[in-house]
Amino acid sequence: MLNEVLEAFVELEIDETLGKDATLAFVRRVVKIGEEHDGNVGEILEGLERFGLCYLCLKASDVLRQGLCPPCAAETFGH
Ligand SMILES: [Zn+2]
Repeated sequence: MLNEVLEAFVELEIDETLGKDATLAFVRRVVKIGEEHDGNVGEILEGLERFGLCYLCLKASDVLRQGLCPPCAAETFGH
């Protein structure tokens, strides 16, 4: 459900109006709400790599591999 909320956010180009910092703050907040309700962060951020937010550490990263920043990708995929 939250994934769809974020998709709507992107579709309506609200991220472009808000700017990067406010967008990241908003997305982190949505993820936090999801976590509090036992949501899966990977699912919430699925297909939303344009936010540049790693779904494991929730740090901003210009490069994401399958939703993960380089350090988390290296740890998860082992290379
Ligand atoms: Zn990470």
